[in-house]
Amino acid sequence: MTLFKAVIVGAGPAGLTAAYELSKLGYPVVVLEADPEYVGGIARTVSYKGFRFDIGGHRFFSKSREVEDLWTEIAGDDMLQRPRSSRIYYRGQFFSYPLKAMEALAKLGVVESTLCMLSFARARLFPVRDPKSFEDWVTNQFGKRLFRIFFKTYTEKVWGMSCKEISADWAAQRIKGLSLASAIKNALVSQKPKARKDVIKTLIDTFRYPRKGPGMMWELCVEKIRSMGGQVLMGRSAAGFRFDPEARTWTVEAKTADGRTEAYSGEHLISSMPLRELAEQIEPRLPQEAIAAARALRYRDFLTVGLIVKEKNRFDDNWIYIHDPSVKVGRVQNYKSWSPEMVPDPAYCCYGLEYFCFEGDGTWIMPDEDLIELAKREIEHVGLGTAADISDGCVIRQKKAYPVYDDAYMKNVEIVRQALEQHCDGIHLVGRNGMHKYNNQDHAMMTAMLTAKNIAAGSRVFDVWAVNQDAEYHESGSAGEQSASGLRAVPERVTST
Ligand SMILES: Cc1cc2nc3c(=O)[nH]c(=O)nc-3n(C[C@H](O)[C@H](O)[C@H](O)COP(=O)(O)OP(=O)(O)OC[C@H]3O[C@@H](n4cnc5c(N)ncnc54)[C@H](O)[C@@H]3O)c2cc1C
Repeated sequence: MTLFKAVIVGAGPAGLTAAYELSKLGYPVVVLEADPEYVGGIARTVSYKGFRFDIGGHRFFSKSREVEDLWTEIAGDDMLQRPRSSRIYYRGQFFSYPLKAMEALAKLGVVESTLCMLSFARARLFPVRDPKSFEDWVTNQFGKRLFRIFFKTYTEKVWGMSCKEISADWAAQRIKGLSLASAIKNALVSQKPKARKDVIKTLIDTFRYPRKGPGMMWELCVEKIRSMGGQVLMGRSAAGFRFDPEARTWTVEAKTADGRTEAYSGEHLISSMPLRELAEQIEPRLPQEAIAAARALRYRDFLTVGLIVKEKNRFDDNWIYIHDPSVKVGRVQNYKSWSPEMVPDPAYCCYGLEYFCFEGDGTWIMPDEDLIELAKREIEHVGLGTAADISDGCVIRQKKAYPVYDDAYMKNVEIVRQALEQHCDGIHLVGRNGMHKYNNQDHAMMTAMLTAKNIAAGSRVFDVWAVNQDAEYHESGSAGEQSASGLRAVPERVTST
C-alpha cells in the first residue's frame, strides 16, 4: 500500500489548500471527499440545469496577502472584482445596508422615527449597566425600537435562539465601529476615509469572486493538485482512523458509494471533517471524557431554495436581508449580481432564498416541492418577484453550516485537542468544522497553509489555533494587508450569572 505523506479528509477550502501546498513541496498526498460530485465543501457551487448557486454568497476577501495571492495563483484571470450591494427588507420597505441613518429615519416615517429617537435617547440616558446579552448591548447603542427593527429578527432567524440568550461579546465584535451617532454623522457629513484600513467592514464595497462562483476556485485547485501528482478521490467517506504508535502512521478507512471499504495510509492525517464525528472514530479510542466533549459540540444547519426567475423586474443587489418576522426566509441572494456567468441564459436570473434551521426540524425535513412553494409565496410576499415569473426551483441542504459557540464549546474543543495531543502523533485539525471555529475561507485556508509548513518542517513551528484571534479582522481592514488572524464574529450564549 502507498504510504502518503498525508491523508487529507475533506475537499473543502482547508483540505484542498493543504493538498495544494504539500503537492507544491513534492509530497505525495491523497484527499478523501465524501461528496460524489462537488469539491469546495460549504464553498462549493451547485449547478442545476446550468444555473449556479452558492451556499450563501461567498465573498473572497482576506486581510492576508498570502491568501489573496494564493487565490490569484489558482484562479488568475477568472477572478472578478465585483461591486457589493445589499439591502435590508423590513415591513414593505427596503433600507440601504450598511444603514444610512437619515434614509432609515425617513423611510420609517415621522411617528416611528420620533419614537426611535426617543427610545435612543432613553437608552443613552438609562443604559443597561454591564450588558450581558446581544439585546442589551444593541439596545444601549441604538435604542430598543431600532434594535427590534434592524437586529432582532434576522439574528434570531440565523441562530435559532433569542437575542436575550446571545452574548453581548458577539454584538460588540459584530457591530463594532457602528453606532447611531456615528451613522448620523456619516450621513450628514460626507467623509472620505483616510485609509482603506479605516473603513468599517460593512462599508467595504467591492470584493473578489470567481466568474463561475466559489466552486470554480476549488475545481481549478483540484486540477492543479492532480497535475502535480496529488490524488483527490470523490465519493469517499472517511469512517475509521487508526494510529499505529510503532510505525507512527495513520490508516484511514473510506466507504465508497457502492459499499466498498478502502484503506489509505499516511505519515500524517489532516482532518477538515466535523470534529464531533472524527473524535468518535479514532483508534486507539480516545478517553471517554474526550468522546463526551466531542459529542456535546453543536451545529446550525442551513438550506437554500434556488429559484429560476425571468429577468424582468429583477433586483440588482447581491443579497437582501429579510428582517421581516412575517416570513421565514432570512436572506435572498441574486447570484447573477455576483457574476453574470452564474446563469446560462441572460433572459433569466437565479435567486437563492436562505432558510436557517436545525437538521431534522420542520423546515429541514419539508419535501422539496413544499419548500419551493414556500419560497415562491415568500418572494412574492416581500415584493421581490411574482410566482408567475418563476420557471423552476431546487433545494440545496447544508448540514453543519455553522459551528455553534455555546457556553461549553471552548472547553469541549480544548478537551478533545488535549486528548489528541496526548494519544496520537501526526494528526492535524484544520478548517471550520475541523477545528469547530467559525472560520471564513481565508482562515480555513490559513490553518491548512500553516499545517503544510509544520509538516514540511517536521515539527509544530506554527500554532494553527492562533489563526483567527484578532477581533479586528472582520470588522475592519483591507484585503491582503496582514497575515490572517481575526476572530470571526460568532454568537455565544450568555453565561448564566
Ligand atoms: C451561509 C454561509 C456563507 C458564507 N460566506 C462566506 C464568504 O462570503 N466568504 C468566505 O470566505 N467564507 C464564507 N463562508 C465560510 C466558508 O464556507 C467556510 O469557511 C469554508 O467552506 C470552510 O472550509 P473547510 O474546508 O474548513 O470546510 P468545509 O467547507 O465544510 O469542507 C469540508 C469538506 O469535508 C467533507 N467531509 C466531511 N466529512 C467527511 C468525511 N467523513 N469523509 C470525507 N469527507 C468529508 C465535506 O463534504 C466537505 O467537502 C460562508 C459559510 C456559510 C455557511
